[in-house]
Amino acid sequence: MHDVRVPVLIVGGGPVGLSTALFSQRHGVGTMLVEKRDGTSTLPRAPGLQARTLEMFRSAGLGPDIRALEIGDSHPDFEGGIIQAETFAQVAEAVTVERPSLDGPSISPERVMGCGQDRYERVLAEKAGALGADIRFGTKLVELRQDPDGVTAVAEEQHSGRRITVRADYVVAADGTNSTVRALLGVPRHGRGTVFDALSIYFHSNDLEMLLKDHRFILFYASASGTLTGLSRLHGCSPWLAAPLYHPDQGEKPEDFTDERCAQIIRTAAGRADLDVEIVAKIPWEGAQLVAERFRVDRVFLAGDAAHVHPPAGGFGANTGIHDAHNLSWKLAAVLQGRGGAALLDTYHEERHAVGSAMAAQALVRNRIRHGYATDEDKRSMVDDIIVTLGYRYSSSSVSAPADRPVLTPELRLEGEPGTRAPHVWLERDGERISTIDLFWDDHVLLTDSSPAARHWAQAARSVADELGLSLRTHVLGPDGELVPQDRDWAQAFGVHEGGAVLVRPDAMVAWRSPHPAGDLAQALARIRTSLARAAGHAPAPAGR
Ligand SMILES: Cc1cc2nc3c(=O)[nH]c(=O)nc-3n(C[C@H](O)[C@H](O)[C@H](O)COP(=O)(O)OP(=O)(O)OC[C@H]3O[C@@H](n4cnc5c(N)ncnc54)[C@H](O)[C@@H]3O)c2cc1C
Repeated sequence: MHDVRVPVLIVGGGPVGLSTALFSQRHGVGTMLVEKRDGTSTLPRAPGLQARTLEMFRSAGLGPDIRALEIGDSHPDFEGGIIQAETFAQVAEAVTVERPSLDGPSISPERVMGCGQDRYERVLAEKAGALGADIRFGTKLVELRQDPDGVTAVAEEQHSGRRITVRADYVVAADGTNSTVRALLGVPRHGRGTVFDALSIYFHSNDLEMLLKDHRFILFYASASGTLTGLSRLHGCSPWLAAPLYHPDQGEKPEDFTDERCAQIIRTAAGRADLDVEIVAKIPWEGAQLVAERFRVDRVFLAGDAAHVHPPAGGFGANTGIHDAHNLSWKLAAVLQGRGGAALLDTYHEERHAVGSAMAAQALVRNRIRHGYATDEDKRSMVDDIIVTLGYRYSSSSVSAPADRPVLTPELRLEGEPGTRAPHVWLERDGERISTIDLFWDDHVLLTDSSPAARHWAQAARSVADELGLSLRTHVLGPDGELVPQDRDWAQAFGVHEGGAVLVRPDAMVAWRSPHPAGDLAQALARIRTSLARAAGHAPAPAGR
């Protein structure tokens, strides 16, 4: 007998587990989430939410709730980039070590924002709960075994010691870098391992705010304390977060860092011996680079830090994990609701392992550059943050694109190529201004213009969707369409000519496009059948791809 029966069990209630619960519930899939802590994070940790991540929350109906959590107007902080000086007091002479290009209204309807995990985890938990997720804090997963029909897990309530048996169709392991689930499954990780040890020091200091109040930056590195101390601006200043490195190989231990020593490190980094410093918390952590060999083991999926960890340089950790959750949730929903074929679930590993590995490599390169030991090859291989976070490409059996393309391109190219995030174009719909990104959530979507030639595509797509049992919407774009582009020509943005068509997946990734019209309905049917079937996991990838 099982105490609980649920379609999807999520292990871990960090940003990734909570996002999985939210997205899945939004897709109509019942979830239970177990988290061993008593509640959501009380510390800010990951402070930067990227434009693509915000697009995902926006599509899930949570845009304004998350946007409301922004700490001040953080965009100028991002514009300030990453700066360095000997002390924080020497901010006027600080040099810029990295200035990532940012999003903009022509690239995304959203933009990066600063906001700690403590703020957005709370909102994710509330919203997922309101949508029906069964969220159990203070509950730790201790056992897990799977058979061809499902997964049986045992979780233990931390306060009472009571054990609960859960039977689930699928399990998502979002239980962080020391993942219990990954260990139980025996999935190895590969990579550099630990690249540094750091101590997050959370503290209050009015003097520091007075010193820096006119300066905007993402991170400010000071070298005066004998170790590089990074000060984050995106969290705001109540509390501040500074993270000096420490050296276990030289005998240093986290417990050596008393409050007095931490206050001293901050005063030295600030270049002000009399700086007021009140220590709030000290958390040791490892900057590591490791990627799990497999992100799927039958009915269990690894997501977030359980699947890939990278040094925080670039701020990719929580964001990449939330993108994992977004990629996986619609696929699980499609399969559980009978719309997606089993092959769709394989594409989770195919797509996200490649992206997780690329992110981990990019984070490592940034880490080397910031700490001054990058090779020329490192510098050459680094691509702009916006490409890493918004411009990555999938090459899987679900998209009609050549296999083994590089995940990252040297330039940002969001031009409607299959495997990339659909271009953002502002549209007018019945007097309302929306983005193309707002068209994508639970259905596959076919975009065409209103030319007679394009009608074959829409007719064929609807017929194939009925045949396969998929949910598909078709939209006509153009000056005389139901959706009227406002800022640029949609066809040009998506790389199609008059009479062409684009098929977009529920996660806003382009699955297929035909730049040109189909000759007739029979031709349209033949081409759409393969592409739509593959996009929804109903057909194997063609041989040799
Ligand atoms: C100082 C610092 C700065 C960072 N800055 C950024 C940034 O700017 N941007 C960014 O994107 N990322 C950043 N990161 C990384 C980011 O914090 C992590 O990538 C992110 O928290 C990973 O989310 P997650 O949900 O996968 O894992 P976690 O947040 O680690 O959550 C996993 C959860 O699983 C729970 N758990 C573990 N085992 C069990 C079990 N057996 N049963 C039940 N629950 C369990 C844990 O208690 C935990 O709450 C930063 C990290 C640090 C340390």
